[in-house]
Amino acid sequence: MSGDPIVIVGAGHAAMALCASLVDAGHGPRVCLVGDEDALPYQRPPLSKAFLKNPDEPAQPLRDAAWFAAAGVQCLLDDPVQSLDRQAHSLGLRSGRSLAYGQLVLATGARARRLPGWPAASNVHVLRSAQDARALREALAACRSLTILGGGFIGLEVAATCAALGKPVTVLEAGPRLMGRAVSEALSAHVLAQHRAAGIRIELLAEVGAPSFSHQRLVRLDGASGAYAVDQLLLAIGAQPNTELAEAAGLACADGIVVDGLQRTSDPQILAIGDCTRFAWRGADLRLESIQNAQDQARVAAATLLGGSPQPYQPLPWFWSEQGSMRLQMVGLLDPGPVRTVQRAGAQPGSFSLFHFQQELLRCTEAVNAPADFMVARKLLEAGVQPTPERIADPAQPLRTLLPAAG
Ligand SMILES: Cc1cc2nc3c(=O)[nH]c(=O)nc-3n(C[C@H](O)[C@H](O)[C@H](O)COP(=O)(O)OP(=O)(O)OC[C@H]3O[C@@H](n4cnc5c(N)ncnc54)[C@H](O)[C@@H]3O)c2cc1C
Repeated sequence: MSGDPIVIVGAGHAAMALCASLVDAGHGPRVCLVGDEDALPYQRPPLSKAFLKNPDEPAQPLRDAAWFAAAGVQCLLDDPVQSLDRQAHSLGLRSGRSLAYGQLVLATGARARRLPGWPAASNVHVLRSAQDARALREALAACRSLTILGGGFIGLEVAATCAALGKPVTVLEAGPRLMGRAVSEALSAHVLAQHRAAGIRIELLAEVGAPSFSHQRLVRLDGASGAYAVDQLLLAIGAQPNTELAEAAGLACADGIVVDGLQRTSDPQILAIGDCTRFAWRGADLRLESIQNAQDQARVAAATLLGGSPQPYQPLPWFWSEQGSMRLQMVGLLDPGPVRTVQRAGAQPGSFSLFHFQQELLRCTEAVNAPADFMVARKLLEAGVQPTPERIADPAQPLRTLLPAAG
């Protein structure tokens, strides 16, 4: 068994980060990456941003084929893993190939959520892969208008892109505010006002009822306040983790593959990383969908695989989103309970940051076109340095002077 490879299932961001750590540690020739897409790992964030604007923009590989060849990493692409036999330490691939593993890491990510009962329709899109993005880009080039179900990050990024392309766009959000699961009310309100000012039609508390299809196209959605005629539609209603393989193999899953702080599943011989995982943190259950989480969990998994004594994963979640002229950056997470928010103006006109305190502790910062303030907040949280709300609020005192001296 010891000669068998470290197999990573999934060839996305988390798999790539793990692969890079293992290569850096000199273990490239032991690594085998198995993916279901027909491409080497590539950047997903641009798919809702630059990629949609430019018909010639290619997907950006995270590393090219020459890197994998030089590192000795074996890549099996376009060949999903369909079964996992934990007793035999082997995987069954769609091609019929059977793959033995010495150590196994599941990095199967998540997929775009769809609506139950909707038949396939040529004008209904989701956005998770480069293939999805190509189809959406072609549709946008020819469409009269786009309707987006869901006012989360991906829906709003696409809405802003669509508006920049001069296409009418409507966002239908079921909740009372935009990005309601991820950002503060103040940031939701700011983003709503900016998008509306840019000509994007946004309806909140938009209840969407029965869809009408004709000739494999969605033509109309009934809503509480009337019917919405549909030309092209993007379903941007969240993602669901790809846990089927783990579940069928009997691993503990709960809307995500359950992992401990060392990225071990309920079978300690098998690790999992990235969007497909769920873990306990600060007394809650978390599943994060971000590049930060994919990269940081991959680093912990590499140390676990190589027999080091890694620090258990202690996430400092951070995320960014580009929506038209707004670059949003967030770091930290709020706990349930009262929040005191301090707003600080940024260096550019219209830019600002929101510093959220709970029980006098800085828990989270949201920055709008204020990257320098975001970086200071991130470093403060990383270093465990706690500023007072009064100090943050004082415009005469530069934020960077709060940072501990380097070295
Ligand atoms: C359009 C878009 C924009 C985004 N923008 C941002 C952003 O601005 N900032 C940010 O932090 N994050 C962003 N994200 C989220 C970020 O891309 C994800 O958090 C990250 O890709 C997670 O990495 P992962 O490896 O866990 O999953 P993925 O990158 O999804 O990779 C998982 C891979 O595993 C494959 N797979 C699944 N099952 C199998 C199987 N059985 N066999 C083989 N392969 C399998 C999947 O098809 C996929 O290729 C964005 C995501 C999308 C879709």
